[in-house]
Amino acid sequence: MKVLVPVKRVIDYNVKARVKPDQTGVDLANVKMSMNPFCEIAVEEAVRLKEQGAVTEGVSVSIGPAQAQETLRTSLAMGADRAILVQTDQDLEPLAVAKVLKAVIAEENPDVVIMGKQAIDGDNNATGQMLSALLDWPQATFASKVELGSGEATVTREVDGGLQTLKVALPAVITAYLRLNDTRYASLPNIMKAKKKPLDVKELSSLGVDTTSHLKVLKVTEPPKRGGGVKVESAAELVNKLKTEAGVI
Ligand code: AMP
Repeated sequence: MKVLVPVKRVIDYNVKARVKPDQTGVDLANVKMSMNPFCEIAVEEAVRLKEQGAVTEGVSVSIGPAQAQETLRTSLAMGADRAILVQTDQDLEPLAVAKVLKAVIAEENPDVVIMGKQAIDGDNNATGQMLSALLDWPQATFASKVELGSGEATVTREVDGGLQTLKVALPAVITAYLRLNDTRYASLPNIMKAKKKPLDVKELSSLGVDTTSHLKVLKVTEPPKRGGGVKVESAAELVNKLKTEAGVI
């Protein structure tokens, strides 16, 4: 069984994003970039499934600039067998990413795609769903448990106020939720080994996919600054402030 794991290079989750003065987006100059945390969880899951013997090959794929090779090397150090970079400097919207992934899938023929539920830069939470629609494959989103069987996967999903367990026929698209697993740190020997694992680079144009954008970002702004807090002397004063100043009760 072969699993494909799409991984995105994003601004590191510890970095406080700065909005560009012209409000066209987030300033990425000299900013630490890392693998999207939900993609890391997807890689971890693929590696665990391989360790359990349910998967024979794990392939990671990223669509992005040349530097996304570092992200792919991280996935190789975590345990992916090989990686593919579809190189482009364009910032693609989810539909375009899904179309590119569909083209990669046509070449790779995986049995299952495990990907992040969401990339923390654009917060779209859309690519997995769009990919499943384009492929006409079942989807199991927000997975907190994945079991692969013969020709099917049993997936527990985190839904509002509870859990839902689904059985999907393979091939299928699964998107990883935060509680699916705890990711591992790549050991130094594995980081060294990852340097020798195959990483195939192809130009986006070689796939013949229409990546025309249908969305236009009008502006990006910082969240409103928080005012300072105040200390109150008593519960009565708090209630009074909530009523008269905050107007919330
Ligand atoms: P999004 O729909 O943008 O929130 O992203 C959801 C998931 O789609 C991510 O966690 C990745 O698994 C995948 N994805 C999105 N953009 C890319 C990309 N440029 N390259 C590879 N995978 C991507």
